[in-house]
Amino acid sequence: MSKVDIEDPEELWRAFLVHAKERVSGHVYETWLKPLRCAEIAGETVRLEVRDQFSRDWLCDHYCDFIRDGLAELLGAAIAVDLVVNPALAVRSEPDPEEPQQVESTKERRVHLNPRYIFSSFVSGPSNQFALAAARAVADKPALSYNPLFLFGGTGLGKTHLLSAIGHQVLASKPEAKIIYTSSEQFMNEVVNAVRFSTMDAFHQKYRRNCDILLIDDIQMIAGKDRTQHEFFHIFNTLYDLQRQIVVTSDRLPHEIPEIEERLRTRFQWGLIADIQPPEYETRVAILRKKAMTDGLPLNAEVTDFLAKNIRSNVRELEGALVRIVAHASLTGATITLDYARQVLADVLVSRAQSISVESIQKLVAQYFQVRVLDIKSQRRMKVLVRPRQVAMYLSRKHAGASYPDLGQRFGDKDHTTIMSACKKIEARLKEDPSLRSQVLEIERQLDVHTKQ
Ligand code: ADP
Ligand code: MG
Repeated sequence: MSKVDIEDPEELWRAFLVHAKERVSGHVYETWLKPLRCAEIAGETVRLEVRDQFSRDWLCDHYCDFIRDGLAELLGAAIAVDLVVNPALAVRSEPDPEEPQQVESTKERRVHLNPRYIFSSFVSGPSNQFALAAARAVADKPALSYNPLFLFGGTGLGKTHLLSAIGHQVLASKPEAKIIYTSSEQFMNEVVNAVRFSTMDAFHQKYRRNCDILLIDDIQMIAGKDRTQHEFFHIFNTLYDLQRQIVVTSDRLPHEIPEIEERLRTRFQWGLIADIQPPEYETRVAILRKKAMTDGLPLNAEVTDFLAKNIRSNVRELEGALVRIVAHASLTGATITLDYARQVLADVLVSRAQSISVESIQKLVAQYFQVRVLDIKSQRRMKVLVRPRQVAMYLSRKHAGASYPDLGQRFGDKDHTTIMSACKKIEARLKEDPSLRSQVLEIERQLDVHTKQ
């Protein structure tokens, strides 16, 4: 590193930060190093100011040598670092000096929650009320109702929304609560960085000691990531023992996440598993109305009905369609009529509808269950084949719009009654078997079948 001409403590610190930024994680940099102030270079001692005792202790424990060596290198001489507490620093960056000190430190740790994802903007219906109730219970009494809470459901059904809502709600009633909201991906990156930059202590400190509520989105993504699972497992145990709330979301049930350690699976099942299903027609209408009202979008009943009928399995796409129509209309100055909506969404609806053929369903189902299409069409009665075969028949009937006799033919020349009874069986099982529901949902998601039912 090049030496700087240093008399000015602030300049020295700036140079140090440039050096440090490349060597520690973004989190450590932002939280611990950047807020420091270099007050003085007095002989062989560099005096750094830190905002509170806690930060001072933490820095001494973890980064003292790193700071000393970095500064020494810049100055070209051995030095000592003196870390002193200066409470004025805590207020320095605060825009509102009236703000009490304690809130300031909460803000420092502020979690990045989407401000729109709160309970009051979440529309409840039969498809999601169980998950909503569970999320509310957890937010009202963290760690006392269900721990962990495992929120599970297909893409775009509101998992992230509920997870954030829990965070907002807890912060509203307990502003000093230490909440960590993160995605599995981000969590994984932190693990990687902690290993790479030898900052595991800081990482542990953050997740095990400085966390009252841990919210992790899309936990299924840690599948196959051994070190991340290992870290998560220990964090889980520590937080659980300390009676801290843990909430995770996933698009699959614990036992369907591949390549995940058994002991983690088991822990996910300790608490409550709450699923979110695709919303019913009425809920879809209510979501559209609420969104239109909140955002001041013009939307008449006919268009609402059209959207709710045509986009069925994903709230994100429902919202997307609404926004698209409104944006289109405001650009062209057109009024949003039913015809207009139909026209704007025509390509979306048609292309999706066309792509769903019996063949594509067979192929996808076979892939999903890891069997061959040939086996699905065969007469073989092995258990591992029967379920995929029935699911494929059910989905073909539901989404490809083919008749029973037609399907019979396409499933290896079977009688149409075989197809009928397979469909009935799956329909019945879907009502009582959440695991099957999630399998079917996932396949439907892959089929992208929100245009038909
Ligand atoms: P997921 O995390 O399950 O993929 P999100 O939470 O990101 O889904 O939800 C997708 C979008 O749909 C978000 O904009 C969210 O606000 C909205 N959304 C989902 N469910 C509801 C609901 N019940 N009421 C209102 N908005 C919802
Ligand atoms: Mg999400």
